Amino acid sequence: MKLETSHMRYLTAEDFNVLEGTERGSANHEIVPTPLIYKLSTMMKSQGGTNRTISDLAKLNLITKVRNAKYDGYKLTYKGMDYLALRTLLANDIIYSIGAIFGVGKESDIYKVSTITGETRVMKLHRLGRTSFQTVKNNRDYLKKNDLMGTNWMYLSKIAAGKEYEFLSILYENGFNVPQPFFVTRHALVMELIDGFPMKNLRRHNFKNRSLDKLYTDLMNFIVKLAKNGLIHCDYNEFNIMIKNNVDKDDIDELGFIVIDFPQAISIDHKDAEYYFKRDVDCIKRFFKKKLKYVPNRDESWLDESGFGEGYKYPYPIFHRDIKERVNDLDAQLNASGFNKKHPSEVNKEMEGYLINLRGEKAEIYTSDDEEDYSDSDYEQHTDDSEESSDYYSSDDGYESESDDENERIIE
Ligand code: ADP
Ligand code: MG
Repeated sequence: MKLETSHMRYLTAEDFNVLEGTERGSANHEIVPTPLIYKLSTMMKSQGGTNRTISDLAKLNLITKVRNAKYDGYKLTYKGMDYLALRTLLANDIIYSIGAIFGVGKESDIYKVSTITGETRVMKLHRLGRTSFQTVKNNRDYLKKNDLMGTNWMYLSKIAAGKEYEFLSILYENGFNVPQPFFVTRHALVMELIDGFPMKNLRRHNFKNRSLDKLYTDLMNFIVKLAKNGLIHCDYNEFNIMIKNNVDKDDIDELGFIVIDFPQAISIDHKDAEYYFKRDVDCIKRFFKKKLKYVPNRDESWLDESGFGEGYKYPYPIFHRDIKERVNDLDAQLNASGFNKKHPSEVNKEMEGYLINLRGEKAEIYTSDDEEDYSDSDYEQHTDDSEESSDYYSSDDGYESESDDENERIIE
């Protein structure tokens, strides 16, 4: 799904008013009846005018006409929601222009954007539902294929963006190395651009004389610290860990990292917390073993007097042993933040089942033994690797990354 903004500058305030009316109607109508659009488009003076606007919007594929057994109506499209989100971002001075797409995740498109003062940021557009239903065919106990038919993906994309924003905000405030989030509207999240590359591209020679032990330990410490604060990432792997761009600087003695991609995170009080915790640990263990030929070898000397120091005396964290005492309850704080009040818990449950399975399941069946060399480009489609990990999943809309040319100003 390409972000196609060429018509945006020609849309009038009335057009947006009708688009917003359709969006408002979507909150409780799968197909919004035309009379309801009239009613919700408060700016429109005549029904005839609204009708013309509706048909213009439909021509631009911002809404789409749907007939059901009882009535005709319209649905907002992803493109329509893109326009609404962009308009809000522009109106709030969150972004000024949009640059190249530089990442196509399994369920998101990532763009570089600029602020009015020239800072570059990242805009993540969540696009749930575009991957094949095949990915969910083996789900253990959550959603079955049939449950996903008729799922309101756009609604869930908004929830995913909102959740990710909430997770990033609380983690950032609490000093975790995650991107700083700036704004969320609908399915669009604007955050800090990380100057780095996904860990999947990291190889032994990048370490030079720096310690693999150190990075490994820091990554495991992150999981433990996160869990002691009440959360589990649930898709913690080499695609969602960005290595800071200092690998070529000889005077820096460690490889720093930033963790991204949070919408599926869960509380450590979740009934399957131990399972997901272990899966996150295993992903890192496996990556280090396969790609970096590193197997941790720990003993007492790893601990300093305080008992912590470099890390664990154990080769890898274990749920019951390592997170006995909590230091914070970020999970509870998130629940109290009003997020769940805005979104009924059933939806959160549905969302959670969908996300942690669709994302995590592939990570689990990391079966490949071959030593394929991944390209350095982090936006490449990983069609060949699609069995390896959740994020290898490629979208089927044939995106090509564009060159990093001039940002496009979408509204004059
Ligand atoms: P998905 O949920 O689709 O996997 P991610 O949040 O993992 O989306 O983003 C997809 C890719 O985009 C990442 O692997 C990374 O290369 C890039 N990316 C995402 N967020 C950022 C960011 N804040 N800074 C730099 N690159 C990012
Ligand atoms: Mg990802």
